[in-house]
Amino acid sequence: MPIAPLYGHESIRRRLRRMIDSGSLPGSILFEGTRGIGKQRLALWLAQVLVCERDEKPCGTCLACRSVLDLRHPDVFWVYPRPRLSDANATADDVIEDLVEASSERLERNGFYPRPSGSEAIFLATTLTIVGKAAMSPAMGRRKIFIVGDAERMVAQEGSDQAANAFLKLLEEPPADTTILLTSSEAGALLPTVRSRVVSIRCAPLADTEMFAFVRDPNAKTALDALALPHGDAERVALARGAPGDLLSVAALSSARAAALKLLEASSTRGAERYATALTHGSAGARGAFSDMLAELNVLLRERAESALSAGDTEGAYAAARAAAAVTEAQARADGNVSPQLTAAVLLDALEGVPA
Ligand SMILES: [Zn+2]
Repeated sequence: MPIAPLYGHESIRRRLRRMIDSGSLPGSILFEGTRGIGKQRLALWLAQVLVCERDEKPCGTCLACRSVLDLRHPDVFWVYPRPRLSDANATADDVIEDLVEASSERLERNGFYPRPSGSEAIFLATTLTIVGKAAMSPAMGRRKIFIVGDAERMVAQEGSDQAANAFLKLLEEPPADTTILLTSSEAGALLPTVRSRVVSIRCAPLADTEMFAFVRDPNAKTALDALALPHGDAERVALARGAPGDLLSVAALSSARAAALKLLEASSTRGAERYATALTHGSAGARGAFSDMLAELNVLLRERAESALSAGDTEGAYAAARAAAAVTEAQARADGNVSPQLTAAVLLDALEGVPA
């Protein structure tokens, strides 16, 4: 299954086509705008237009187009924040291998992917790989396209001025057969030296009509149905708020909220039922989901404390505030090696007496 289709950004797409037709497409472009609205997807669309073999570009059916949508076109190199490679002397091959693996995960989710975590970045080895590949001839067609997603995460310096300068030089004057597309939702955090070398195009969130078209598209729908989202089109459009890519984190958030509510409800039960809920929090591999649940639980408890207080229930408000403190403590421990099941079981006691 290829990545979900692109919707919206119509006027930008017309503008880009005009630039291509008149031979005035800049060599380095920055797509900036809110997270999740499809900037990297738009960059992939532009890559498709640039490599398509037919007159009606992008045709979507030629080998080049299909290769871009399957994320395996040899001349379209898509990089984005990744965990630091364990080998300090990682080579271009290591970088490419890591990205191929990550992209096949993105492909499995039809092009939906979670926000990069705090420790993920575009490290120097990746920047050097771009510089190296840009100096080579295209492998399949006549052009090479480099897409750098979340470009504000490019690591500025790791003791190599030379590498940083090589990238800046590439941005400033890419080879005639090379286009570099950066995307950023925090363009203000971009290195000024990078920002000054790209032509910036501001992207807007999708209009509701475009969002409806997206959630109804059969390919997008298959991907969304796998995400534990509400089923109604209108509900999905409302949740996305113009950012189709955000539906993945919305889904993760709503399941975290549901898990938090369940734990809170279990605290007022007794016996087997009470601890059965704690045991549903997996012991391994589910730390991310567990952390999300704790964060939601904290929000939930603060809401309960406030409503108890405004209802004059000081005892209930106190219980909720005390429970929130216990959750905050658990959050600090959750990053360590403590089992989510044990933490959940301990929290059940701390949650007792919180008003419903
Ligand atoms: Zn094509």
